Amino acid sequence: MIERNEGFANLTAGYLFPEVAKRRREYQAAHPEAKIISLGIGNTTEPLTPHIMQAMVDYAKGLGTKEGYSGYGDEQGNTVLRSKIAEKLYPGMASADEVFISDGAKCDIARIQTLFGSKTKIAVQDPAYPVYVDGSVITGAAGKNDGNGYKGVTYLPCTEENGFFPDLSKIGKDTLIYFCSPNNPTGVASTRDQLKKLVDFANDNGCIIIYDSAYYAFIRDNSIPKTIYEIEGARKCAIEINSFSKLAGFTGVRLGWSVVPADIKFADGTPVKQDWNRVATTLFNGASNIVQAGGLACLDDEGMKETKELVDYYLENARLMEKTLKGENFASRNVKVFYTGDSPYLWVKFTGWKSWDIFDLILDKCNVVTTPGSGFGPAGESYLRFSCFGHRADVEEACNRLSKLEF
Ligand SMILES: *Cc1c(COP(=O)(O)O)cnc(C)c1O
Repeated sequence: MIERNEGFANLTAGYLFPEVAKRRREYQAAHPEAKIISLGIGNTTEPLTPHIMQAMVDYAKGLGTKEGYSGYGDEQGNTVLRSKIAEKLYPGMASADEVFISDGAKCDIARIQTLFGSKTKIAVQDPAYPVYVDGSVITGAAGKNDGNGYKGVTYLPCTEENGFFPDLSKIGKDTLIYFCSPNNPTGVASTRDQLKKLVDFANDNGCIIIYDSAYYAFIRDNSIPKTIYEIEGARKCAIEINSFSKLAGFTGVRLGWSVVPADIKFADGTPVKQDWNRVATTLFNGASNIVQAGGLACLDDEGMKETKELVDYYLENARLMEKTLKGENFASRNVKVFYTGDSPYLWVKFTGWKSWDIFDLILDKCNVVTTPGSGFGPAGESYLRFSCFGHRADVEEACNRLSKLEF
């Protein structure tokens, strides 16, 4: 028989979100009357906005006509969309031919693994979005888990003590560094000075940064960079992965992009961009043309206005949750809320509790689903992540229940 891919056998933890869903399902089965509200998974809830929706409807209708029909497009993406992303989001920082359109950031993070192969050393923020490590386990780069984490991975604790920015000196030379800002799950958006340190470290040590900025649209503090390319030197060491998912509610529609500057090179001098182009053309066949029409609409004036309002709606939810979680009921129980106002996530420390225990308690007493911080890495123990994606009425009801929680 065929041997199982060792990478799958090496995966130690089940994926976090299926476990959250399972506990919710089991609770609902045992308590059919419970009206469960989810502040758990980072999934958008509000409808597509009119202008962006209409652009996709029109394009889809056009496909049903002789003049409007098109088959395969360029694997790297619609040229007009690539130009528009470069011009609107990376003026003077990246050119259209460095922008690659994808079916989403997670998919690009998976394909990145094929770009670097199984011998690359990995560093990740701890806690982190699970895909960076789990994807690297599947390809073999992360190695085996010896009980203290995967041997090929350097974990960079991001804690209350270090202001959720890691000690970079732990990272070895020639390492692939996954870095997410605004961060999922901590919600922390790194400052210009911090990102400069990161970029300088990478350039001095032969490292490449995979910079996940899926939440850039949530940044409201103007001093915080919205892209890594605002930092001098980033074009030599950073690949940016991005997405329309959280920007425009495209979690189900599926559209993202990556930026691979021509200046980044492998040890043998080959531009990384050359191989990434190969990955796009060989392992991917382009994003849906209907969806790319929606992406274009996101970036014109009307679309930008709509997406800003959409994100503002979620940020208002976050402020309501912040108020509740910083309220008397929680403060008196030594609960600490970390929230900067630049992300959809509140990172909340329940000192003395294990994450899964406080998760179960809040599910049971409030019928509210959260995400256990420990599922994002060991430094997330005792934390819960609260997500602001939800209808306003549900968020208000969840806040109401939470404010009466006894524990
Ligand atoms: C939601 C999320 C993504 C996934 O984006 P898709 O484009 O929907 O695949 C990527 N990175 C982080 C950190 C996320 O939270």
